[in-house]
Amino acid sequence: MVNGYKPTSLKEALDTLAKESVTPYAGGTDLMIKPDENATYLFLNKVPEMKNIVEDKEYIRIGAACTFTDIIENELTPAILKEAVSHIAAPAIRNLGTVGGNICNGSSKADSAMIFFATDSKLRLVSNRGERVIPITEFYLGRKKTTLDKDELLVEILMSRKGLNNYYYKKVGERNALAISRVSFAAVLNVEAGTIANCMIAFGAVSDVVIRRADIDAMLIGKTIEDAKAVKEEYLAAYDQAIVPIRGRISAEYRKTVCMNLLRDFLESNGI
Ligand SMILES: Cc1cc2nc3c(=O)[nH]c(=O)nc-3n(C[C@H](O)[C@H](O)[C@H](O)COP(=O)(O)OP(=O)(O)OC[C@H]3O[C@@H](n4cnc5c(N)ncnc54)[C@H](O)[C@@H]3O)c2cc1C
Repeated sequence: MVNGYKPTSLKEALDTLAKESVTPYAGGTDLMIKPDENATYLFLNKVPEMKNIVEDKEYIRIGAACTFTDIIENELTPAILKEAVSHIAAPAIRNLGTVGGNICNGSSKADSAMIFFATDSKLRLVSNRGERVIPITEFYLGRKKTTLDKDELLVEILMSRKGLNNYYYKKVGERNALAISRVSFAAVLNVEAGTIANCMIAFGAVSDVVIRRADIDAMLIGKTIEDAKAVKEEYLAAYDQAIVPIRGRISAEYRKTVCMNLLRDFLESNGI
């Protein structure tokens, strides 16, 4: 038996979160792996402010309680996110699992969270005290550790509307379908007026937190493809140092080799 509150507005959800000892519950696909019979849950799936996908001038704003199926079916969803989400689990999990749960569970294997890193997306965190919008890179403090305060909810993810069309995405798992990532990789690169306007790369399932090194990617920004070729080995060497995989069921050496192969393939696919 799962006990809890079912707020029907964001205000009601935040009031309950501020007053009671409750655990936010979106799709439950992570929480129900280890159900806590003593817990009281705050069900988020009837909070309309967290269920929308809309756009404004700058961003596509994705409600944290949108399921993966909602995201796949929405025409505003950028192709890079749609592709990654389509590879998550199977339809039954995609019908329940949400992007908010994927981000807040704090795992570097979270496939949609990794895309939000590769697209420099922002998170809108709200409590009764107010709200803050932070880059996703500032949300994670370590494995399963986030900056989310006890009285806060992740309400929306803000993805840039522009510049995400030329992307590269690969998920390496044990099988082609129904697999948790062993390594995941996403990258976006745009050339405008002959020079690289942006280059954003993320590696998931490699370290405790998704790896996103804007400082290394800056080596390519402002360069022509020819000039980028000239610094390619230096760029690869910087990532070779930056990627320090954790050991698990999969060896650190394997993860590192896959990361570097994917990075090279991404560069080559862009003529670098
Ligand atoms: C069989 C199976 C296969 C899976 N395959 C994949 C896969 O391929 N790729 C992948 O990335 N994941 C996979 N998962 C993991 C899981 O489905 C995802 O992480 C999913 O996104 C979790 O979302 P949820 O809504 O179910 O989260 P929940 O279980 O409801 O919550 C997860 C955590 O986030 C917190 N939370 C949820 N929403 C909010 C919010 N808005 N604000 C604050 N805190 C919040 C909860 O309190 C909890 O701590 C799989 C799970 C299963 C069971």
